[in-house]
Amino acid sequence: MIVIKTLEEIELIRESALIVSKTLGMLAREVKPGVTTLYLDKLAETFIRDHNGIPGFLGLYDFPNTLCMSPNAQIVHGIPNKKPLLDGDIISIDCGVLKNGFYGDHAYTFEVGNVKEETKKLLDVTKQSLYEGIKELKVGNRVGDVGFAIQDYCEKHGYGIVRELVGHGLGKKMHEDPEMPNYGKRGRGKKFVDGMVVAIEPMVNMGTHSIVQLEDGWTILTKDGKPSAHFEHNVAIINGKPVLLSTFQYINEALGIVSNEEDKFKL
Ligand code: MG
Ligand code: MG
Repeated sequence: MIVIKTLEEIELIRESALIVSKTLGMLAREVKPGVTTLYLDKLAETFIRDHNGIPGFLGLYDFPNTLCMSPNAQIVHGIPNKKPLLDGDIISIDCGVLKNGFYGDHAYTFEVGNVKEETKKLLDVTKQSLYEGIKELKVGNRVGDVGFAIQDYCEKHGYGIVRELVGHGLGKKMHEDPEMPNYGKRGRGKKFVDGMVVAIEPMVNMGTHSIVQLEDGWTILTKDGKPSAHFEHNVAIINGKPVLLSTFQYINEALGIVSNEEDKFKL
């Protein structure tokens, strides 16, 4: 069942999403060779609590940490550990926050030191595919239109779209209906209406779309061991159009990235 949100509720989701955005912005300055993912996890937990939020992933389905940290061939749901990040790694950091009874949940894949050109391209294409999907999140369209846009954009570059993990509705629960696959057919699936809030999160592999899971019961990796990227935004439908509730602005400021991509999705 899709839970439709009031404008007031959407503002509360934005408040939680904003804490996530600021947390990722803080982490953008800390991600570097030699740093451990467990260290970054503790920084994030402290930062979130200092901003009157509750880490949204900690304890959810018994997940042990604040952040999902998935380097290189790990796609999502990696568990923070004491292994230092290495020059040339990429790391997907996924973060959730609960505040005022509503969740925010988004993710960014960071470069660690000097990353290969082919890997930078995977990150660029995956991030752009997120915006290609968000453009389709409007009244008159359906879930399949978002998935189609993401899949079409990424497959043109020869990349594999993960099938087993999908985006989702977002609100009082971290994972609500509808499921938002990153693949699909135009005109198929649930219709979009005003008041829907979703997390769109392409998970894109440099090689095959096939996945494997580690014995820890959490970590999802690419089957061929090639890198995978993951970007996620929280988006509401207001007046028929997509409105971003999350922002990469703090990350962009930290990394010196100039982008006007988010301007198209403001109220
Ligand atoms: Mg997430
Ligand atoms: Mg999510």
